[in-house]
Amino acid sequence: MGVNSKIEWTHHTFNPWWGCTRVSPACKHCYAETWAKRLGQDGLWGSKTERRFFSDSHWREPLKWNREAAVAGERRRVFCASMADVFENRRDLDASRNRLWRLIEETPNLDWLLLTKRIQHVEKLVPWSGEWPKNVWLGTTAETQKWLEKRVEHLLKHAASVRFLSAEPLLGPLTLSQWLQRPGSSVAGINWVIAGGESGPESRHMHPAWAEDLRDQCLQAGVPFHFKQWGHWAPEELIQETISVRTQRIELVGRAGELIRMVKVGKNKGGRILAGQYWDQIP
Ligand code: SF4
Repeated sequence: MGVNSKIEWTHHTFNPWWGCTRVSPACKHCYAETWAKRLGQDGLWGSKTERRFFSDSHWREPLKWNREAAVAGERRRVFCASMADVFENRRDLDASRNRLWRLIEETPNLDWLLLTKRIQHVEKLVPWSGEWPKNVWLGTTAETQKWLEKRVEHLLKHAASVRFLSAEPLLGPLTLSQWLQRPGSSVAGINWVIAGGESGPESRHMHPAWAEDLRDQCLQAGVPFHFKQWGHWAPEELIQETISVRTQRIELVGRAGELIRMVKVGKNKGGRILAGQYWDQIP
């Protein structure tokens, strides 16, 4: 995918292929499938369907980003993947996946953010055991406490230089303090938390208290916290413009017992201010 990705927490996005299969409630309104269909790419989702693969010129893009990062004297982050799950366990994906591991090793100026909902497959699909390349950040999704508990121990097994948790779309409260890695601790833990609400017309709302609780747990543990977006539903008080009376609304009770009115205004209007500020912390 393109340069200068609009996802604020990454510089580039790279997809080794397109297509996937739903695995948990976070996938219910998979934006990647919707996006693929919008671009005329039907039939890429499902366990029996084919994936879309790319030419050599696509695979050369990260080599260019790596050179640019070297010239600029900076590290740049690459999100992998937005249109697939790198750890989907199918043999037709092995060749591209192995090509990806080689590419990661050839691009030491890029930090690769591998985000998966299939964290249980990482061990058998990566070529690294013990020491991992320094430029790999490994992450998994936790949309609810149940899915956090199913996935987190698999995440913590791996010696990636950053282990991160993506609480997006956040569908319930999460208690994760016990797995956060406090500065100076040698016990393997989560080093970064990203949170956000769901986008798309069918979106489920994120209660502001869930996001605030996550932020508080991270602050207390000294772990960087990044608030990515409200998504389709946002607190009414954050919306600058007049909202139509026909806009869908729900009322929630906040942490201090206050009334919060959430409005379904769309991702762009919702923004990403949480409790009065942006949360852009990155390890
Ligand atoms: S894992 Fe990601 S790409 Fe795959 S179906 Fe779920 S949300 Fe979509």
